[in-house]
Amino acid sequence: MPLDAAQAHYLSGVMRQKPGDDVMVFNGRDGEWSARIDQAGKRGGSLTIGQQTAPQRDPPDLWLLFAPIKKARTDFIVEKAAELGCARILPVQSDFTNSERIRQDRLQAHAVEAAEQCGGTFVPAVADLQPLSRLLAGWDPARQILWADEAMAGPAQTLAGLLPGAWAILIGPEGGFSESERVILRGLPFVHPVSLGPRILRADTAAVAAIALWQAALGD
Ligand code: SAM
Repeated sequence: MPLDAAQAHYLSGVMRQKPGDDVMVFNGRDGEWSARIDQAGKRGGSLTIGQQTAPQRDPPDLWLLFAPIKKARTDFIVEKAAELGCARILPVQSDFTNSERIRQDRLQAHAVEAAEQCGGTFVPAVADLQPLSRLLAGWDPARQILWADEAMAGPAQTLAGLLPGAWAILIGPEGGFSESERVILRGLPFVHPVSLGPRILRADTAAVAAIALWQAALGD
């Protein structure tokens, strides 16, 4: 199997592997396989694929919708969402979102690295930035949204009573949601507001906390 320059660099430069070494590989669809490195250099390389070592493991049906914040903290959100088992990651532009564009390829690469480091066989797709209003207008109501909003301030809610099914978590930007967004979100039958406790959390902390609570209630 051919390796492109980035994959070959990762194996030889980052992981310090050399020809003849055995590695584990996955493509996000077919589980994990053993492989032997034939060559790995600056311009690319190749592997010989051996036996399958693990079946494909797909995460539970949870998406993360979040408003991008500063670069390093957006990277953190994508990395942790991938580690914690989100199936899709959708950056959204809300009224108070500062960023007008994201580097989708960079964020997707973070998701791949996160899946590699936690031994997963699944890589969540990271979508391009899109307006929250447009996403909600075309939303399939069969997927319920847990809307984390500090305006709900109260004790952190247990999510133990949630029904299994397709879910998404929505996290706002540094400035939170605008009042007009709150009015719209409150009026949507598939949106459920949730408190993560009496403290106002940073958006990256809120994303990790909400995903962990959901996984504790409905995850694998
Ligand atoms: N200014 C801070 C920052 O730099 O990140 C706080 C941002 S907080 C407004 C960002 C988002 O985190 C909110 O829109 C909400 O989705 C979520 N959040 C923070 N604290 C929360 C809480 N106690 N309960 C529910 N959601 C919360």
